[in-house]
Amino acid sequence: MKIYNTLTKQKEEFIPLEEGKVKMYVCGPTVYNLIHIGNARPMIVFDTVRRYMEYKGLEVNYVSNFTDVDDKIIKKAMEEGVESEVISERYIEECKKDMEGLNVKPATTHPLATKEIDGMVDMISTLIKKRHAYPAADGTVYYRTRSFKEYGKLSHKNLDDLQGGNRSLLVSGEEQKEDPLDFVLWKPRKAGEPAWHSPWCDGRPGWHIECSVMSRKYLGEEIDIHAGGEDLVFPHHENEIAQSEAANGKTFARYWMHNAFLNIDNKKMSKSAGNFFTVRDISEKYDLQVLRFFMLSAHYRSPLNFSADLMEAAKNGLERIKTAAEKLRELQAKASDGKLTGQEEASLLEAKEFLVKFETAMDDDFNTADAIAAIFELVKFANTNANEESSKPYVDALLKQLTDMADICGLILETKEEILDEDIEALIQERQDARKAKNFARADEIRNQLLSQGIILEDTREGVKWKRA
Ligand code: AMP
Ligand code: ZN
Repeated sequence: MKIYNTLTKQKEEFIPLEEGKVKMYVCGPTVYNLIHIGNARPMIVFDTVRRYMEYKGLEVNYVSNFTDVDDKIIKKAMEEGVESEVISERYIEECKKDMEGLNVKPATTHPLATKEIDGMVDMISTLIKKRHAYPAADGTVYYRTRSFKEYGKLSHKNLDDLQGGNRSLLVSGEEQKEDPLDFVLWKPRKAGEPAWHSPWCDGRPGWHIECSVMSRKYLGEEIDIHAGGEDLVFPHHENEIAQSEAANGKTFARYWMHNAFLNIDNKKMSKSAGNFFTVRDISEKYDLQVLRFFMLSAHYRSPLNFSADLMEAAKNGLERIKTAAEKLRELQAKASDGKLTGQEEASLLEAKEFLVKFETAMDDDFNTADAIAAIFELVKFANTNANEESSKPYVDALLKQLTDMADICGLILETKEEILDEDIEALIQERQDARKAKNFARADEIRNQLLSQGIILEDTREGVKWKRA
């Protein structure tokens, strides 16, 4: 399995620190609003990375935080006249609902920044002790950027170039910094803002220290993969490396993965320009599985354009896969038990080739675009090579292969349409009438139709009973 590592700018064979186990941290959203479809991209992409690794037998410890203390949350709380927590708790709940709709698995741990303040104070104290950080007169603590010799190694930036670009910062009220490159680890409270005690002043942590601390607490000082959107490379991830490596004296993360951005109609997503969609907006028009399928139709390191036409195309594409699965389920319900014929055995071997293609694509830095192309090849193959004459084990195997491949992508192939109780009762009545009229073909058809919708019929002495599978 190869992963493109932002740190080395090349694809590298993935070798976990501990055999069979993966420690993975994905920077999560700041919770001040409903998540937008751009935020959904890293969620879907890295959930798919996790699913593929689990499919390969790796045990993934997946940690993704919620940033629940931030200027934007405080601003929103002030606008609504409520505590910050009301805002963050509300949008964490909403985010979890969207994740469920997108079939993004809950992380092993979803830490909250506000619950990890002690760890942050602890790491900042270590950094001060090691002379990598210093408190200024007003209680702000800064990281001494130049003290970390490898600063810039992730974003491939040169310290002196950064210095030039940052000169103006010194005139913007941060003259207490030793160097314009220094960044904030702890900042003093402002009126009306949430604050915690610390040895330097009552205040709150800077954003970067949160992830260094939560990653260390839940995964350890050295982890396998750290991931997020490409906007996080600099300064967020660069600063995380500086903090963690200086504090722990160890390599922080071995592989750094970054997804490219999602644009709308080829423009940067922006609320003020009116081209902005939340995941919730999309869910009013589409099943969120379509959004997931759409995101995976491109490689995660390619910019992805969102448009109404492309969503329609994604809807049709997903529908084709679901229809093939539906057809196989119908054949499965009808097929009589039997053995695989020689021809079917050969045909299954041929079908396995699509799984090989799928895995080859995923092994190559999670090329989901090619992996989905392999799913389509299997769909086409199943549509032409499975029919009413097929044996049950043959249909079972094709359906299993299709659902396994879809599962890795987090795509659910069962149609969610729930059949209503009254419709079930009506069909059962129709079946009874058909049997009375000795129309056994129709009676069986109804039993199979219900079975394909997950309804199991039982003929008992007291009449027909049914249950949901
Ligand atoms: P934020 O809440 O802004 O910290 O973003 C949470 C995650 O979403 C980060 O990993 C960002 O890099 C990612 N992200 C934000 N906007 C986009 C976008 N338009 N396309 C892809 N990823 C994005
Ligand atoms: Zn982070």
